[in-house]
Amino acid sequence: MIDIRNKKITILGAVRSGIGAARLAKKLGAIPFVSDCASKDSLSKSIEIFEKEGIDFEYGKHSDKVYDCDFIVTSPGIPSNSAVILNALKRGIKIISEVEFASWFCKGTIISITGTNGKTTTTSLMNYTLSECGLKSYPAGNIGNAFSELVLDVKENEFVSLETSSFQLDFVDKFKPKFAMILNITPDHLDRYNNNFNEYIDSKFLITKNQNEDDFFIYNADDITINTKLEKVSAHKIGFSTKKELNVGTYYKDGKMFFAWYGKQEEICKASDLFIKGEHNIANALAVLSVAKILNLPNKKIRSAFTSFKGVEHRIEFVREINGVEYYNDSKATNVDSVWYALRSFDKPIYLILGGKDKGNNYDQIKDLVVSKVKKIYAIGSSANKIYEYFKDYVPTEYKQTIEDCVESARKEAESGSVVLLSPACASFDMFDNYEHRGKVFKTAVNKLK
Ligand code: ADP
Repeated sequence: MIDIRNKKITILGAVRSGIGAARLAKKLGAIPFVSDCASKDSLSKSIEIFEKEGIDFEYGKHSDKVYDCDFIVTSPGIPSNSAVILNALKRGIKIISEVEFASWFCKGTIISITGTNGKTTTTSLMNYTLSECGLKSYPAGNIGNAFSELVLDVKENEFVSLETSSFQLDFVDKFKPKFAMILNITPDHLDRYNNNFNEYIDSKFLITKNQNEDDFFIYNADDITINTKLEKVSAHKIGFSTKKELNVGTYYKDGKMFFAWYGKQEEICKASDLFIKGEHNIANALAVLSVAKILNLPNKKIRSAFTSFKGVEHRIEFVREINGVEYYNDSKATNVDSVWYALRSFDKPIYLILGGKDKGNNYDQIKDLVVSKVKKIYAIGSSANKIYEYFKDYVPTEYKQTIEDCVESARKEAESGSVVLLSPACASFDMFDNYEHRGKVFKTAVNKLK
């Protein structure tokens, strides 16, 4: 364990990861100082914690005190090209992410999961499967508590299923997970990577930076982008594929999931054993299956975990059926790629609610699917106009002011046997606090329908 006693540590960001890192630093005898440029009002809960626990902090600015430290721990919300980070780097101050910091003190096995889409679902299924197989696993990262908050509780024979965003990976140094997973890489968050896709890919691959041949790299063998970077990886490479048989890894064929180990093939379960819908969830399950098989977990228990795992809120979440019309909440679909997967998950006509804060979306990727499956688009939010202009010549498209308006219209228009799907392809901040808020508004509107 690294000794941080009496070290002065600046923590950037005063919300979940920042609070976790500050508490961990204090517990281990360091001197944390937390800095956040948000207002006193928006940080009132954090301030209460810092005052109660005797942790030094500032809000509303990043003063020069930030730079008076041995190193900086940064939260995922702070862009790596922000002034405070650039200033610290200029001064030669070491900066690490909260995940890196927590990992220094982890005695258990880390399963670190990244990718553009599917992190929360896969982390959750990973954690659930380990637990159902009788192992102790802690869900950490975006999905649960900050890693720093729970790391000291993790014992040697226990696991951390760690959802790891590329922002957390941007500042790793010694981070060395036993299992590292990249689910997929498609353009997203490019605003934080100087609109450079290569920078974003490199950031994801930092997950394998310190791995060696005793560690495992679980990767999507169908993803062209990932395949181009494999030679850089030193860990034992284990692919997963929904399209082809593999010699080593997990794959899907003829409705079944297989595990292969140097030519020895083993059928584990049927894809229909998996409760969660869609081909993308088969891919997520295959990734989890690789870890489960390497850990030698019994097939029967894996299968029963896959069957009883009911998915995560706001990810193609079934809400209700009214008069033969099914309503699904996929509010977490904040990019075009995840909408593509959502549309592919249904073989029924779809009434699609699309729109919100655009992150530079290109709808070409879903155009054909929309034309073949979507009966009507309800366009909302600040990108409604862009959506209307793009789709109006292909599919009936209508502006709506609110999600409630969309639900009411869909109630009148959608015929029995169809699906009403909120899968917006955009961020939510133009109309809502976050995607959870958007999903809840949708669900409330659906549940109010008579
Ligand atoms: P993340 O945590 O990476 O944002 P989530 O599990 O929260 O991922 O899912 C985000 C969205 O992406 C949801 O709409 C979900 O249905 C979709 N999704 C889940 N897994 C995948 C995948 N493997 N590929 C593409 N989209 C996916």
